[in-house]
Amino acid sequence: MDQKAIDEISTQEVPAFKHLIDGKDVPASSGAAMDVITPVDGSVLTTIAHGTAEDMNAAIASARAAFNDGRWRHMAPAMRKRIMHKWADLIEQHALELAVLGVRDNGTEISMAIKAEPGSAAATIRYYGETADKSYGEIAPTPNTVLGMIHHQPVGVVGAIIPWNFPMMIGAWKLGPALAVGNSVVVKPPETASLTLIRMAQLALEAGMPEGVLNVVTGDGAVVGEALALSMDVDVLAFTGSGGTGRRLLQYSAQSNLKRVYLELGGKSPHIVFNDTKDLGQAAKVVAGGIFRNSGQVCVAGSRLLVQKDIQKDFVEAVAHASANMQPGNPLQLTTQIGAINSARQLEQNLQALRTTQSEGGNIILGGTPSLRETGGFYMGPTIVDGVKPTDTLFQKEVFGPVLTVTTFEDEADAIQLANATDYGLAAGVWTSDLSRAHRMIAAIEAGVVHVNTFGGPDVTVPLGGVGQSGNGSDKSLHAIEKYVNLKTAWIQL
Ligand code: NAD
Repeated sequence: MDQKAIDEISTQEVPAFKHLIDGKDVPASSGAAMDVITPVDGSVLTTIAHGTAEDMNAAIASARAAFNDGRWRHMAPAMRKRIMHKWADLIEQHALELAVLGVRDNGTEISMAIKAEPGSAAATIRYYGETADKSYGEIAPTPNTVLGMIHHQPVGVVGAIIPWNFPMMIGAWKLGPALAVGNSVVVKPPETASLTLIRMAQLALEAGMPEGVLNVVTGDGAVVGEALALSMDVDVLAFTGSGGTGRRLLQYSAQSNLKRVYLELGGKSPHIVFNDTKDLGQAAKVVAGGIFRNSGQVCVAGSRLLVQKDIQKDFVEAVAHASANMQPGNPLQLTTQIGAINSARQLEQNLQALRTTQSEGGNIILGGTPSLRETGGFYMGPTIVDGVKPTDTLFQKEVFGPVLTVTTFEDEADAIQLANATDYGLAAGVWTSDLSRAHRMIAAIEAGVVHVNTFGGPDVTVPLGGVGQSGNGSDKSLHAIEKYVNLKTAWIQL
């Protein structure tokens, strides 16, 4: 990747984006468009269609027609695989364009975006494409007078509702398995990061995916997202976002057709450091990176540092030192380690969380204020709050910003108790040189993923899903396919 190429693309004007319905670029039925504000400098980057419920229903009807006539699900699985592989190739060929477009839209630092967005999306689409002609049904172990067969059938129309932090990657986690098994999909991208999902769907068409199989409708969550979730013609809803919206989706399902709802929600992930850690310097750097990359706008971010009491002072100093070196900058520069906050609204939420913690006795020892105001964009440096108690709001509630809390523990039992003392259960990190302790911690921590002596980085081969109020069902790995199929039994008398 070279800076000159990034600079060249990032000065190009971004055209107005429309919905992608039935293979065509379609404006909103009302004719309205929404401004896309870039967090890089607060200016208007372009517009997207300001969708209506009518637009969403048109996309669902297109997806249903594509499913019913079998243009995708009845295509030879090997051909579906070829198209998905071609799609992955096209995403890779357009990686720089997609990464720059995404960064201008959502503010992630480009060094991370290039790998996490087009890089990971292409790998995910290729992984699931490969499964299309390798998924078998089952024969049940029945007496030989009958034959029991289990068919894995696509569910029909899948609705995918995506958040703004990594729209391509998280989108691919849902599109990959849903499409590989033959479903049609309607995507509702986030208001503040829609562009790359529309481009990605255009590339699917270019790769040969039939029209109507993958549709994208932009606009307000409360309008087009709600229409998708309330539809009587959507069979499965796959969502990543906040707990509040997740709750609403369950209600919409109950009010409509009882569609299955899979929720990938937030987290307040503990990053636990024992005094027997072999390389505390390395641990401090990883703790800093584990919360501050992408300005903390990462669902699995290690936002709660739990550190053993006798090393607290030195370790927190080391984390603060590593963090102070990660100041925000222009997300389009390769040297920038931390990009922008996604929106003015998110920045204000971060600041509000800090005002609350101060009123509860939290001690801000680093950062805590907006930066780079002169750019017109939305930025905030690494922020560390010491002395946070388990009862404090900041210990319990996700910020989704660059804010790390520090809490000490006495021993292993205390660490486990603190780790599990929130309603969430998405991710955790443990640093120790004691292998037995590592295994005990893996078993005891209530979370979808426990990292040991590292943090972040699991690829598509392993599941990611939360427990408790972090959600249900998992993205990634072969297990994700189960969400997008129905099991059908055939019982045949012989
Ligand atoms: P959000 O819930 O506000 O929005 C997510 C999506 O839901 C957007 O596309 C939005 O338009 C849509 N939406 C909003 N209201 C809706 C409604 N009434 N009906 C239907 N759709 C609606 O969340 P966000 O602010 O975009 O994302 C941040 C949250 O997502 C954080 O809590 C974060 O932890 C979580 N997240 C979780 C994961 C994970 O894998 N568990 C990954 C990334 C982000």
